[in-house]
Amino acid sequence: MKCIMCNNELKKRIVEHKEFGISLGRFKALVCEKCGETFFDESAAEKIQLKSKEQGLFGLAKKTKVAQVGNSLAIRIPKEIAMFLNLKKEKSVRITPKNQTQLLIEI
Ligand SMILES: [Zn+2]
Repeated sequence: MKCIMCNNELKKRIVEHKEFGISLGRFKALVCEKCGETFFDESAAEKIQLKSKEQGLFGLAKKTKVAQVGNSLAIRIPKEIAMFLNLKKEKSVRITPKNQTQLLIEI
């Protein structure tokens, strides 16, 4: 089987899968050693989804809107993400633009 990203030959490997920095375990996968892409088969993908749901990580990435607060902009952080980060009102965070489409918030 070939990598759909770069057409290199894929190798069978057991790889650790992390979501939001939390390990969900090790799963069978096909890995491209050229570009680093990892492909899980349906059975591994189901196991990963189950683990993700068990850990409360499934669907944690959410859409939110930018609001205007006085002269500043505010981004509402959904409850599930606030809980995952143990983020509370009035807590100080550091924000850094990574580039023109990504913003890093360090807690
Ligand atoms: Zn590749």
